[in-house]
Amino acid sequence: MARVVVVGAGLAGLCSALALADFGHDVTVLESGPAPGGQLVFPPQPFTLPAVLRDLFRKTGRPLERELDVVPVDPAARWVFADGTGVSVPNASPSGTRRALDQAFGAGTGAQWDAVVAHGDRSWRELRPLVLGHAGAKPAPSGETLRDVAASLREPRLRAVLGSYATRHGADPATAPAALTVLPYLEQTFGVWTVPDGLTRLVGVLAARATERGATFRYDAPAAGPALDGKRVTGVVLAGGETVHADAVVWTASPRLLPGGIADDRRGLFRRRRDHREPAPGAVRTVVTPLPADAEPGSTPSVRFPADGGPATITYDTPDGRVEHVAPSAVHGAAAGRVTAIFRRPANVTRVRGLYLAGAGAHPGPGIPLVALSAAIVTDRIGRA
Ligand SMILES: Cc1cc2nc3c(=O)[nH]c(=O)nc-3n(C[C@H](O)[C@H](O)[C@H](O)COP(=O)(O)OP(=O)(O)OC[C@H]3O[C@@H](n4cnc5c(N)ncnc54)[C@H](O)[C@@H]3O)c2cc1C
Repeated sequence: MARVVVVGAGLAGLCSALALADFGHDVTVLESGPAPGGQLVFPPQPFTLPAVLRDLFRKTGRPLERELDVVPVDPAARWVFADGTGVSVPNASPSGTRRALDQAFGAGTGAQWDAVVAHGDRSWRELRPLVLGHAGAKPAPSGETLRDVAASLREPRLRAVLGSYATRHGADPATAPAALTVLPYLEQTFGVWTVPDGLTRLVGVLAARATERGATFRYDAPAAGPALDGKRVTGVVLAGGETVHADAVVWTASPRLLPGGIADDRRGLFRRRRDHREPAPGAVRTVVTPLPADAEPGSTPSVRFPADGGPATITYDTPDGRVEHVAPSAVHGAAAGRVTAIFRRPANVTRVRGLYLAGAGAHPGPGIPLVALSAAIVTDRIGRA
């Protein structure tokens, strides 16, 4: 049995604590806040790839569906446009989506979207080994951007929708990789799911199951950093100065809190092609996006990207006046600015022996399924006691 300290009790910390306690390790979770959950306290959060959570639940006790109501979201989305048109997109149904698009925008529009989903299918097959953490997986950088794929769509409203898969992360379709087509592919193939009782229920079940397996939770216990002996971790130093000793540490707080040189940067994986021109310094690019839920029908929302790669700003009119919303940079870790950052996250294994990274700031990235996957990659790596 190893002593393992997990820093953070958000989704990554909870999944890691549960899996490691179930493996028989002596697990202590250090959480800076007064309760578990982290970003899961913001409702509602529809998610894809429920299989990742199902897998954890099945391996550690009663199956997910016996503990929680997890239901498909239907329709998966409603796209509304400035010209007053809109379409409801059915969940996990490529043929239903094709029919809905043909009906809303004219025959043949569904087939255009099918081509995007087929692109996503190819991207997923290439990315999957990398996302699942298989060593050595490195898809060739294509240099193709999401805007390149959008340009192949004749229907301008579909171009706006596809671009929104980048803009929703605060990224610019002109620099975001074309591989983001995996998002509509995953939604339409594996569905979009939600927990109608709220994600706090998921948090409660994970925390209770981890405690049942022997994990200890310490709240109001902010970690200042890892305790090191040369290139080996020996524990975690709390902000108050106390050291909690450990043979292994799973760090799910921001990797930026770690001393420089520890995290293994995946830089270069998705290099843009050499001839790709950056916007001139100081220039601002604007793209049009589907209407946010609270926007005034008929208004034309736009997303602006500063050339320095900083957070995007979405501007739109509501019945209460004009709204300027700056994309939050913390929600998706380092993804604001250019979404290529998603593919350049620090690896789960660090340069320090025994110190692992999981959570939205590490590989494979933010969002419920990817964060749960990061915990699975790390806990499988640590293995059974
Ligand atoms: C408003 C909002 C909407 C979202 N919508 C969706 C959605 O629709 N679908 C989806 O899939 N995902 C969504 N997400 C993203 C998803 O919620 C996150 O990617 C995921 O919950 C992150 O989990 P995490 O454990 O990596 O990080 P966090 O939830 O941030 O957990 C980190 C934990 O570590 C603690 N901590 C931080 N620093 C320290 C320290 N020094 N010492 C000890 N503890 C520390 C924090 O208090 C926190 O509890 C959304 C996020 C937000 C904020």
